[in-house]
Amino acid sequence: MRLTVLGCAGSFPGPESPCSAYLVEAQGFRLLVDFGPGSLSTLQRYAGLHAPDAILLSHLHCDHILDAASYVVVRRYAPDGPYPPLPVYAPPGAPDRLATAYGQDDSSVEDVYQFYGLRPGTFPIGPFTVTVDRVNHPVETYGVRLEHEGRVLCYSSDTAPCDALLRLAQDADVFLCEASYLDGVDNPPDLHLTGREAGETATKAGVGRLLLTHLVVAWGSEAHTLASAAGAFTGPLEVVRAGATYDI
Ligand SMILES: [Zn+2]
Repeated sequence: MRLTVLGCAGSFPGPESPCSAYLVEAQGFRLLVDFGPGSLSTLQRYAGLHAPDAILLSHLHCDHILDAASYVVVRRYAPDGPYPPLPVYAPPGAPDRLATAYGQDDSSVEDVYQFYGLRPGTFPIGPFTVTVDRVNHPVETYGVRLEHEGRVLCYSSDTAPCDALLRLAQDADVFLCEASYLDGVDNPPDLHLTGREAGETATKAGVGRLLLTHLVVAWGSEAHTLASAAGAFTGPLEVVRAGATYDI
């Protein structure tokens, strides 16, 4: 598997990165996991305008989905289009949410996307075996475990600490984990992880490598988050950047 980070900024785009979007490739099949604001730009820079063979949206918060609305134009009105419907795996409500974001009163985006409603379980997408489960976030949110030929990538999506995340991350080769909050301040419960909590989850799950993402750059401190995570996880870890690639 190859992971390409198209965007990793938490909650809103940062000066150096769009919001969450991760392209995962195996056997020439490219699955786009989340499609946050700005990532349609980096999709073109690092992969290509029509690179995705399928999309998985972990939850319907705007910082994880809005460029899937922008992408309607790309598929529907391309000079060599329209393109056939693209599979989109997403929580229920995605068709209406994306149609509303697209912004036409009578619009549907179901000519562009073939939607599949997420529910906890395991299913195939292209060459991947995908397991999703509900994690601890205020809206219906799915953590994601992708397996291919014995290798495992786990993506936390947005979540506070929870058992489902531990199960999804168990023995993963790479754990792409959010670390939105700073340690040592009074954070609201049941929303996000700190660097320390990401590190603790990585240690409990026995992952090989921890990739920290979804830092809120404008309000945070990358050095602080990294140090907090390193205090709880002794394996290799880093904060990801837009354009970074990882062979898993
Ligand atoms: Zn969220």
